[in-house]
Amino acid sequence: MLYRDIPKFIIKRNMQKSAQTGIYFDYLVTDSVMGQICVEVTGRRDYDVEFVENDYSDEFLDAKYNQGRLAILQYHNTASYISFSDEKCEGRNSGIQSVPTAFNRFYSNAHDDKQLYFYFLPCSGNNATPYYLFMYRLMKTAGFNFINIPPSLSGQITAFSSIDDIIRARKENGDRNSGNNATYIIKNAPHEYEIYGKTYGANKYDTSLICYAISKLAQPEDHIVLYEYNEKDLKELPAASLEVLNSMGNIEIIKIDDEIERRELEENDSLRSPRFNAHLLDRLGERHCVLCNCRISEIIQGAHIWPVSQIKHMNTLSLDEKLSYATDGENGLWMCQNHHKMFDSNILLLSQTGEVSYKQDLSDDDKDYINSITTVSILPQQLVTPSYVNYIGLRYSRASD
Ligand SMILES: [Zn+2]
Repeated sequence: MLYRDIPKFIIKRNMQKSAQTGIYFDYLVTDSVMGQICVEVTGRRDYDVEFVENDYSDEFLDAKYNQGRLAILQYHNTASYISFSDEKCEGRNSGIQSVPTAFNRFYSNAHDDKQLYFYFLPCSGNNATPYYLFMYRLMKTAGFNFINIPPSLSGQITAFSSIDDIIRARKENGDRNSGNNATYIIKNAPHEYEIYGKTYGANKYDTSLICYAISKLAQPEDHIVLYEYNEKDLKELPAASLEVLNSMGNIEIIKIDDEIERRELEENDSLRSPRFNAHLLDRLGERHCVLCNCRISEIIQGAHIWPVSQIKHMNTLSLDEKLSYATDGENGLWMCQNHHKMFDSNILLLSQTGEVSYKQDLSDDDKDYINSITTVSILPQQLVTPSYVNYIGLRYSRASD
């Protein structure tokens, strides 16, 4: 790389859709924007700038359009990657869709002396929603420095201190009773984490960012698995994101596919099925016991209504049919370990209309105990679907076998 005595910006003019939108980077990134960035990044006011076309390439830029909404600012031997917010913040994550690409380009570049920044351009729409704030905090955690922070976000963009801290923020801000999130982070035991990440459409941006932040925070003793969850098409995360995650090296990436599910079904009666978990997250949202509202992640499990042990022994079903029943989100409820065990042992019973009861021949002490820990007497009615009724029927028609 050329040693630069005077700071120099090199910026690709064209965005992916500039020809359609008529918006180019030399229009968005004005002298006053560059002046502010230059002072902040280099401490100097004077700079050179070159807006370059698609065919230009150097150590930092490929012969393509502007990927990652980036400007490269070179000064002395330092390359600063500055990613710019989108001019629209209208959709759920339209304002940050370029961020994973910017991160990937920064991370993959072999130059040693480099820094990563984010600059807020004026935008239409609200970029101070809880969703955006969560994403900015992930960016900060992953290594972005914010050059200018809008007053509405002032003081709020702090890095997460641990993976548990991310999970906590998610629970506090998230839409926790429905499966609207693109990504769920689950803690199964100390140092055991699972990330369920949708990879289709705009979800991939959320999933990528969450993984980068988690990877930065991971401790050597942590075991972290990303389950790529994709029912709509066959795409995984973009190749560049997978490559970066692989080179970060502390998240195991597993694609949920039929092969894994078959193995789980053949080897286990209970449940380590990633697809079942993903379906439950989609349908029921953040995990909490449906019978006592316990939210302690390490003890929440997916409980089958029609048990896997029964499904497996249905000789009339093909393997594919068994798999489909065993992983159906409608065939499950979140329960804490206590309630799951009592449900599996038929100490605790659920009726076809969702009422909770228990076995009649229990001692009064046991009944008192169950009453004291079971705060829900009837399932929320949105869970009592025709499929639920069907699965409860199947469960108890064979319970005596
Ligand atoms: Zn419970």
